Amino acid sequence: MSSTEQRVAVVTGAARGIGAATAVRLAAEGRAVAVIDLDEAACKDTVEKITAAGGRAIAVGADVSDEAQVEAAIARVAEELGAPTILVNNAGVLRDNLLFKMSASDWDTVMNVHLRGSFLMTRAVQKHMVDAGFGRIVNLSSSSALGNRGQVNYSAAKAGLQGFTKTLAKELGKFGITANSVAPGFIATEMTKATAERVGMGFEDFKAAAATQIPVHRVGEPEDIANAIAFFTGDAAGFVSGQVLYVAGGPLN
Ligand code: NAP
Repeated sequence: MSSTEQRVAVVTGAARGIGAATAVRLAAEGRAVAVIDLDEAACKDTVEKITAAGGRAIAVGADVSDEAQVEAAIARVAEELGAPTILVNNAGVLRDNLLFKMSASDWDTVMNVHLRGSFLMTRAVQKHMVDAGFGRIVNLSSSSALGNRGQVNYSAAKAGLQGFTKTLAKELGKFGITANSVAPGFIATEMTKATAERVGMGFEDFKAAAATQIPVHRVGEPEDIANAIAFFTGDAAGFVSGQVLYVAGGPLN
């Protein structure tokens, strides 16, 4: 890569929350960023934040669990921004319920977005990484990978992403590609806000209660996760691969 070339990063689920903070942070690191989410219009705020700060970004609407949409999205990114060599698989959904009440469709939705989505995106982007002899993949796992009541679907998907990450690291390492996983604890986003609503608590009370269980005595912010992702996607992190980093304000067990 010449000094004038910019690496191109793809961040999924980047209209808001952790994905939006990551897109903004990677742009601040000098990356051109494809802001991907289900609804292209919803990506506008993230793109504007990046371009207002002098960065390059485009909004791309795609469902990560749809093979044709993923292929089309990555083709568009390559055409408009350049070949992507950084991928952050962040798009996610919750469909929480106790096992005996969980529908098969809630199981499938969570598997499709987290696992199938990360698989399709990674398969589409890896050819550009192999051609470039460089790649950085980060998959969003979760502290729920260790088991969490009411999340049998989500915890299985997030644990699955850890195995996915380690296998990518082994298969793709020889092409200059690293794969790592960031596993957040409680982060204040629309996702945790929805959980507060589901259990009938105000978000501020919910966060305060969570903070008492966290060694640093606060909940996480999206930027806490973006910082870890910035490290893994950096040029200097080429010897760090196949790792899972829990970013949770303390140890989990
Ligand atoms: P969030 O605020 O709910 O944002 C997730 C984004 O992903 C939304 O913009 C959502 O779009 C998008 N998305 C959902 N399904 C998609 C699909 N099929 N294709 C493309 N985009 C899709 O969530 P977050 O809290 O920032 O979480 C980001 C990631 O971190 C997720 O993988 C989550 O599981 C993980 N995580 C979060 C926490 C936490 O405490 N917040 C903890 C551990 C792990 P719509 O708005 O249109 O649905």
